[in-house]
Amino acid sequence: TSHIELQRTMRQVEARNRQIIDSASDYAIVASDLQGRVTLWNAGAEHIFGWTEAEMLGQNVEVIYTADDIQAQRLRHNQGVSIASGGVSGERWLARRSGERFWASGAMTVLRDEDGAVLGFVKVLGDRTQERRASDALAHSERRLGALVSASSQSLYAVTADWREMRQILSTGPVAQDESLPAVTDWRERYVHPDDLALLEQAIARAMAQRLPLELEHRTLLADGSVRWVQMRAVPLLDSAGEITEWFGTASDVTERRQAEEQLRELTLTLEERVQTRSAALQVAEERLRQSQKMEAVGQLTGGLAHDFNNLLTAISVGLELLELRIDQRRYDDIGRYLEMAQSSASRATALTQRLLAFSRRQTLAPTPVVADAMVRGMLDIISRTLGPSIAISTQLASDPWAVLVDVPQMENALLNLCINARDAMPEGGPLWISAANVSLRGESAAALDTPPGDYVRLAVKDAGTGMDAAVIEKVFEPFFTTKPIGQGTGLGLSMIYGFTRQSGGQVRIDSQVGHGTTVELYLPRFIGETPADAAEETLQDLPACSAPSVGTILVVEDEEAIRALLTEVLGGAGYRVLQAPEGGQAIDLLRSDETIDLLITDVGLTGGLNGRQVADAGRQVRPALPVLFITGYAASAAVGAGQLEDGMEVLTKPFTAAELERRARALLAIRNPS
Ligand code: ADP
Ligand code: MG
Repeated sequence: TSHIELQRTMRQVEARNRQIIDSASDYAIVASDLQGRVTLWNAGAEHIFGWTEAEMLGQNVEVIYTADDIQAQRLRHNQGVSIASGGVSGERWLARRSGERFWASGAMTVLRDEDGAVLGFVKVLGDRTQERRASDALAHSERRLGALVSASSQSLYAVTADWREMRQILSTGPVAQDESLPAVTDWRERYVHPDDLALLEQAIARAMAQRLPLELEHRTLLADGSVRWVQMRAVPLLDSAGEITEWFGTASDVTERRQAEEQLRELTLTLEERVQTRSAALQVAEERLRQSQKMEAVGQLTGGLAHDFNNLLTAISVGLELLELRIDQRRYDDIGRYLEMAQSSASRATALTQRLLAFSRRQTLAPTPVVADAMVRGMLDIISRTLGPSIAISTQLASDPWAVLVDVPQMENALLNLCINARDAMPEGGPLWISAANVSLRGESAAALDTPPGDYVRLAVKDAGTGMDAAVIEKVFEPFFTTKPIGQGTGLGLSMIYGFTRQSGGQVRIDSQVGHGTTVELYLPRFIGETPADAAEETLQDLPACSAPSVGTILVVEDEEAIRALLTEVLGGAGYRVLQAPEGGQAIDLLRSDETIDLLITDVGLTGGLNGRQVADAGRQVRPALPVLFITGYAASAAVGAGQLEDGMEVLTKPFTAAELERRARALLAIRNPS
């Protein structure tokens, strides 16, 4: 009975122990014998490993090891260590039934009988995979953060929630001098310029109150006394309750950027001033350039102007000489002609002087009210005489013309100059239109002309000549700009016209197309007031040619009509037969004809393409010994190359007297007829 009692009690104890063992459901409790066969496999082991106790009893416990551990005989090793030291504990990867690994934490102890003989082993272990993953992830994230921090070129720091203490995390920036200090409480005084402290306190107070990031640029005073600009940014770290636990921040040196910004600001501020200085300097330079161009041109043009004046002076002195001669001869019938000849040349010399003065803008304008149409009408005679018969002039004048307030001689000069330009653009002759019209410029049309709106008289001269390309148009108002050869163009016409028109409150417009002609329009502001009397009409009288008994025939080639007339007069009066040609081509035609010609007197500078030298050379080809007298307003050598002159060729420079001319002509004719 007692034996049966004992057995029952034992079963009860065993069942109770089993219950206790199985209740540790989160822990695997596994017992094995010395051979490694499983003798106990609790409910927790079933749960963690996936095998049931029925499956595992008597099986080798080694299946719970990973392939690597089996290979390394981990079981045998652990058993050995346990026997030697009573047990092992630790963490390692084990395998589940599914083959999946899990992180196990636990201990192995040795089972012994009463005598201390080893019976087997007990393992108690838990699944710590979750914890292991979390700590792995944390370590990884810490490593990443560390890498990130060390990659930063800024100073990184942490500040306590109340901003009192600062701890440098990493410092390569401007505040690097305190890298070694663990935590500083006087960081504000150390890192922030005294002048910026108040600003920083404000920013901190605001950021703390709003729990928002702080951003501020402040100066910092370095140990060596230099000042750098620092940009600081800090963000609050909040706990789960939303309270600030700490601040993290960066500081970067933005000195260069601030300096650049400062420079830019200064630059912008002074830009206008500098532009003004520069453009003033530019203006001075331009003015200098203009002046030097002018001087160069003046040099070039002295010859041309001397030529013009010499022509006029010759006409005056020859006229006076003839006058004297006639008075001596008591032939008073046509002395008026010589007077007028001298007078008109004198007035043209005056006009030339005015043109020069107008160019230099030093002339005083004496504006008087004038009706443009009347002025045009009064000028027509002079214009047509000046232009010659190959130019057909048409006029279109207003029926009820307005008056303008201008300097009359200037305006006449302007008109004449426009007509001469038109003629020069039509070497073969052609039509010329002169018009005067009343126009009211409003809004756009006034803006297009760059002139205030209002009433204007438009004086226009239109030709069907060569026209101008854009490059020429751009320059025509420049003083001395001319496309004509020296002696023919002074380049002063349009610049004078421009100066005059602008001084009179008007505007000049040029419309020109190469090959289609040119229109130049002068807009002169309307004058409202008392209407002036009609401009006096001026006329020039023809200078009649003289004929005389022939003691020789002289061909006179001279483009200047007054001079030609005078030469003819003097030589004819002296008894020679005189042939005339106004330009080279006609002279050569005469020289090639069988007309008797004993002497050629030619001007050197001729209009129309050929000069006097070329005419003489052509003449010598058909009449080899023909004596030639060149007339020139230039220095003799420059004009025909003195020294290179062939026999029987001589030079007479202007101005000269009638007697001188006669003497030279007689001398040359004597060479030809030594009898
Ligand atoms: P100049 O007549 O002495 O050359 P201007 O100032 O009167 O000087 O004219 C300057 C230049 O403008 C001329 O050389 C010529 O090239 C050009 N020009 C002026 N008027 C005309 C025109 N009606 N047709 C073609 N070109 C012209
Ligand atoms: Mg001209």
